[in-house]
Order: sequence, then structure tokens, then C-alpha cells
Amino acid sequence: MKAAVFKAPGQLVIEEVDSPEPQAGELKIRVMACATCGTDAKIFQHGHPRLTPPQIIGHEIAGVVIARGAGVVDFNEGDRVQIIAAVPCEECWACKAGKQGICPNQTSMGYQYPGGFAEEMIVPSAVLKANGVNLIPGTLSFEEAAVAEPLACVLNAQRVISVGPGDTVLVMGAGPIGCLHVRLARALGARKVFLADINGSRLQLSAAAVAPDRAIDMSTEDLDAIVRHETDGVGPSVIITAAPSGQAQEQAIALAAPGGRISFFGGLPKDKPMIAVDSNVVHYRELILAGANGSSPAQNKEALALIAEGKVPVKDLITHRLPLDDVAGAIDAVTSGTAIKVVIIPGGVD
Ligand SMILES: [Zn+2]
Ligand SMILES: [Zn+2]
Repeated sequence: MKAAVFKAPGQLVIEEVDSPEPQAGELKIRVMACATCGTDAKIFQHGHPRLTPPQIIGHEIAGVVIARGAGVVDFNEGDRVQIIAAVPCEECWACKAGKQGICPNQTSMGYQYPGGFAEEMIVPSAVLKANGVNLIPGTLSFEEAAVAEPLACVLNAQRVISVGPGDTVLVMGAGPIGCLHVRLARALGARKVFLADINGSRLQLSAAAVAPDRAIDMSTEDLDAIVRHETDGVGPSVIITAAPSGQAQEQAIALAAPGGRISFFGGLPKDKPMIAVDSNVVHYRELILAGANGSSPAQNKEALALIAEGKVPVKDLITHRLPLDDVAGAIDAVTSGTAIKVVIIPGGVD
């Protein structure tokens, strides 16, 4: 079968590899859709400490079950399924507390296990044990189902900071994740949602799709003045930084309303992880600063249901469908901001 194998930074090779056979407790799927993500671009450019090449990458996966290993009774050949990306151990204190996203023993599809940029893929037994295989409801397409994984991460972040009715939400970063944050905040009842980016053309593309109450081009507009004006001088009650930018994180702290909750959704480059914080601003304004890391299998199920029920539509966010041979082009489109969501269709695009 054909697969996209990451060999070294800058080297992602489409090649023939042996078709894998499912062992006890595993499923084998035909990958029908695997969405690309900012992390794939990061891996392609720099590699990743948790990934030992050569490895097939891709972790936003949907497909059809084509074989079962011994002992698998919950799924059948022909089942349409969506697969989690972050695989919790289900044994540690975090997993037992229902906080699988911060499981210290977490492994991931496309990192420790071969991923979804391939014609076929094994679903490891650890994924089945963690309840990480979801049946795709009704007629929902594979490509929409694949977006359940990033939406689950977005859901996790908004749960950590309790986004809900009455909130005024500023999302900084208008990539695919920023778009999902806007849509989810609305679904959770936010009163107003703003979307800001320093890349004017990316902002325009994304704002046309998700229609925030106000799109703010940070390269030409005064973010501070606009969000203050839009929130009656108070500032947003929620700010989510969906960009690898320390400057955005610092700005979020300066802009948030008293009692505001801030999610550092996007991590920073590992050689530039420090930011400057006026601790007294956090102190006197009672700000809550929160992180976000992956999602739990339960959040994956919930995200898939949100998409299937139309509460968080994603179909119009999928701007590009590309065959496996074009993984490099897909990563390019993600990085440049000319696409919103790019999905690889290993079986080929009509
Ligand atoms: Zn991802
Ligand atoms: Zn665990």
C-alpha cells in the first residue's frame, strides 16, 4: 500500500510499504480521510521529540473497518469509524480522574503508532481499550468526521475555561483551529465572538466562513481599541490564543476583562517558550490563565456528535481535498494560510 513516511525534517516520502496485519485486539481500517493540521507542518519542518523516524504521520483519521484481530467483538467489517489521536493509558491518576488529555503516559497516532496518511492503517489495541473508536453517525462524510479530532481539542480548551452563555470571546489566530473556536463558542452560547489575525488574507478567508461579530486585522487595525469598544470598555471575558505566538499571549493578558479567562491553546516554539507577564495585572484583575493539551476519548465522541447534529458545521471549512501524493502540497497550504482545512483522501479525489 501507499503511505506518506516522515524520514527526517523536510523529508516526507510517498512510498510503497507492506500492508499491516491486525494483531489481537486491533482493527485494520481503509483510511477514507485524514485531515492535515498545524502539527503535521511542525513535524515536517522540525521533527518531534515523541516521534522516531521513519514513521507514517497523520492523526485526524476516519475510515472503514476492513479486518479485525482476535478478540475484537465491538466492531465489524464495513463499520465507518473515526479514530482518536491522543491515546491515554487509562491506568494513571489523570485517566482515572477523567483528565485523559493530560495523561503523562499519553501516546499518539502518527507519532508512536503509524498514522493516517496511508491507504490502510492499524488501530492499536490501546485505542480500543481507551474507547477511542467512534462509529460515524448516519450519512456524515468521512472528511467531516475526521475534523472531530481537532474539534475535540477545541472543546477541551473551552471546557477548561468554561466558555458559556453571556461570554464575549476573542479568538486570536484565524487558522482552522481559530475557526473551530469561533463556531464552538457560538454553539456554547457566547454572546459575541471576535476573530483576529496578523495575516489579513487568512483572516478574510476564515471570517467569510465563520462570520465573527467582528474580524480584526491586527496588521492594520487597533485590536485593543476595537475589542474594548465592542465590549463596552470592559474587554473580552474569554480570550483564546490559537497561534504559536508569545506576543499574542502577552496581549491576551493585557486585553482581558477583569475576571477574564485566557486559554493558551497554541503552544510556543520550543526555543522561544518565555513570555513577559505583568503579574499584578493577573493578580488585581483576577485573571485565569489556562493551558490546553489534546482531548479525551469522551470529548472526541462529543465533538463528532456536535458535527453530526449540525451544532458545529465543518463542511464549509474543508477548502481543499487532495490525494495522498499531494501531502506536501497539503502541508504547504496549511502553513501559508491559503486554505482553511485540508483533507487527504488516500483513495484519490474524484
Ligand atoms: Zn491535529
Ligand atoms: Zn493515563
